Amino acid sequence: MHHFDYQNGVLHAEGVPLPAIADAVGTPVYVYSSATLERHYKVFCEAVKPHQDHVFYAVKANGNLGVLMTLAKLGAGADTVSEGEIRKALAAGIPASRIVFSGVGKTGEELAFAVDAGIYQINVESEGELEALSRIAAARGRRQAIVLRVNPEIGAGGHAKITTGDAANKFGVSFSEAERLYAKAANMPGVSVKGLAAHIGSQVTEFSAYRAAFLKMRGVVESLRRQGHAVERLDLGGGVGIPYEMSYPYRHGTETLNAYGDMVREIAAGLDIELGFEPGRVIAGNAGILMTRVLYINTRADRSFLIVDAGMNDLVRPAMYEAWHEIWPVRQVAPDQELVRYDVVGPICETGDTFTTGRLLPKMQPGDLIVLKTAGAYGASMSSTYNQRRLVPEVLVKGTEYAVTRPRQTFEELIGLDRAPSWL
Ligand SMILES: *Cc1c(COP(=O)(O)O)cnc(C)c1O
Repeated sequence: MHHFDYQNGVLHAEGVPLPAIADAVGTPVYVYSSATLERHYKVFCEAVKPHQDHVFYAVKANGNLGVLMTLAKLGAGADTVSEGEIRKALAAGIPASRIVFSGVGKTGEELAFAVDAGIYQINVESEGELEALSRIAAARGRRQAIVLRVNPEIGAGGHAKITTGDAANKFGVSFSEAERLYAKAANMPGVSVKGLAAHIGSQVTEFSAYRAAFLKMRGVVESLRRQGHAVERLDLGGGVGIPYEMSYPYRHGTETLNAYGDMVREIAAGLDIELGFEPGRVIAGNAGILMTRVLYINTRADRSFLIVDAGMNDLVRPAMYEAWHEIWPVRQVAPDQELVRYDVVGPICETGDTFTTGRLLPKMQPGDLIVLKTAGAYGASMSSTYNQRRLVPEVLVKGTEYAVTRPRQTFEELIGLDRAPSWL
């Protein structure tokens, strides 16, 4: 469910015609829908009741200030993976008491910052990190609430690069070590170990992997409790997948999330435990599009390249994860209009800068606008200035209003990032 639809033959984001944004802000540009963000967050909370107070939006999916503020207003917590994300979540008005800090490589400075900020929970991923954190917190006279992230040795996800729960993946302490480390943490001065966490991957559409992993986690909780530990929290991570293709054999968002909620409630039944969630993609993915303009059409004997002004630096998912994005023209076309196969490519000097090959689209002209759909998660947040291209702007729509929540970088800002060495 999203709010990008044709009205009078023109694609709109909620009540705003996309050409108006293209004219005012230029292209390429990300456009987000507040109503979609709000709806997804609310539907997720509803689905995981009575655990709705421990939904921590994964900032790395889309850390735009406008997006974070929209979710903060609804009471969302934040799952963060760097000091920068913690700072951004705080800047957006998400209180420290609603922030979780995950990641395999937290530095000493980052851990100290998180402890000083008084965040809700640090998800510890290795024995070394456990020791470092306890030392840092104890030196400050603090006891930081933690959970131990366990690698359940069951991975899942839409691509090998976003599978995190396999034994071969770098995330979390090994399953066989979990109980020893929990007991160790329970005796350390700088931490208060509250429970366990797992996050098995992203773009998970097969709930059987979730079920198997969560059941394994339940087993660890029960075993630890038999040993006398009061295991109060079980953070189940994020990863719920979303439909990228309209023809995708995947249920409507509400149905999917309700099925997910039913599954976790069933698995946690009788445990009397606080469940935590870290959804990212399922909140932001369908709440954003990347709008780009056709520059040229380079027709060869066997194929046509639709060359657009967005590149892999603006949206890296197709190049990095072989991801599929639906492409819609901004001007609605008649159902009987001729369709043409295009390879949709960007201007970057790499063959990997290809959004799709052989895609059937209406016949295009230079200057036409198209959108890559489902670009609200891992789109702008993964963008770069590769090829010395300015960071792509971001626009947040609410009803018939919109705001530029990140202006297009200027060339002065881009060049000003560097400093000349004194000897030149
Ligand atoms: C990336 C990540 C998430 C969010 O994953 P989604 O697939 O966007 O829901 C949640 N938790 C952790 C620890 C992550 O690394």
